[in-house]
Amino acid sequence: YEQSGIMYDIAIISGDGIGKEVMESAEYLLDKLDLNFNFNYGEAGFECFNRNGTTLPEETVKIAKSSDATLFGASTSTPGQPSPIINLRKELDVYANLRPIKSYRGIKSIAQGIDFIIVRENTEGLYSQIEYDDDEKVIAERVITRKASEKISDVAFKLAKRRKLKSKVTCVHKSNVLKVTDGVFKESFYKIAKNYPKITTEDFYVDAMAMYLITNPLNFDVIVSTNLFGDILSDESAGLVGGLGLAPSGNIGDDNGLFEPVHGSAPDIAGKGIANPCSMILSTAMMLDYIGEKETATRVNNAVEKVVCAGKVLTPDLGGTAKTMEMTQAIVKELI
Ligand code: ATP
Ligand code: MG
Repeated sequence: YEQSGIMYDIAIISGDGIGKEVMESAEYLLDKLDLNFNFNYGEAGFECFNRNGTTLPEETVKIAKSSDATLFGASTSTPGQPSPIINLRKELDVYANLRPIKSYRGIKSIAQGIDFIIVRENTEGLYSQIEYDDDEKVIAERVITRKASEKISDVAFKLAKRRKLKSKVTCVHKSNVLKVTDGVFKESFYKIAKNYPKITTEDFYVDAMAMYLITNPLNFDVIVSTNLFGDILSDESAGLVGGLGLAPSGNIGDDNGLFEPVHGSAPDIAGKGIANPCSMILSTAMMLDYIGEKETATRVNNAVEKVVCAGKVLTPDLGGTAKTMEMTQAIVKELI
């Protein structure tokens, strides 16, 4: 593989707990690739708060905004303080949350051959954080805009086109009850669908979808939904295929990409060097894809798959005895 000559600026925000440990794996892996990276380090999280009095310093936001992409480890929540990752997503305006779901041979899964991705709207819906308490009634605003709905649908269709698998997008909503808000979401989906005549479309109510994910998980390719539904279906789906240690995620906007493992800082195993590095490494592969290094991203994904399926060098959460760095090195060795 030839060096492309491009220098990529990557923001590295390790955070707390196992976030720091799995980020070491990501950096180790990136160093072994035939690509040029310049790492820009930023602080965030609980330990950062203890040092600086803020969970997300302005400097960190600046570093993330000015880099080509950002890798985020995990942060331990700080009582009374805002979540740094939620605020960072807002600052970067990364409106699409992508959660690939894949089964691995040898890893307990509800079925083999599962390969879909959930595209969740990241900025509005029931997570608008607009709530009122006027004693008699407490109200949460569920904001849905045509603009955000069309944008998130477009991300989903573009992905379906790129993946070249089933070429299908499934829209998940509850328009039979939430007639106005999800009416707009569904309408926006079918409006965008017209631009992608070769992609098959379908839509399901979220309650039915929660069941279909279990009864027929091979039916899906790209799933698009609003914020809360997408959040719930993502965790359900991760649970179907082997849990947190293998679950990567990306947050994408028009100008920024932020990639992080789905898991948190895992205080119960932090400091022991036994965290599963795969979700961070798979998130790093999503980052590589995002910056335009699709081929390298595929190599990384394949290396993870090889090591996980071989079942020899696995961290304790996958039933093995390997340390984080041992599994990382095994993955790097498979990078052909
Ligand atoms: P936080 O508040 O930071 O999210 P948490 O206690 O909720 O911390 P998570 O990181 O969300 O912990 O993890 C939930 C459980 O899954 C923990 O028992 C943790 O040890 C386990 N876990 C999470 N990620 C990994 C990983 N990469 N490798 C091994 N085990 C993990
Ligand atoms: Mg957690």
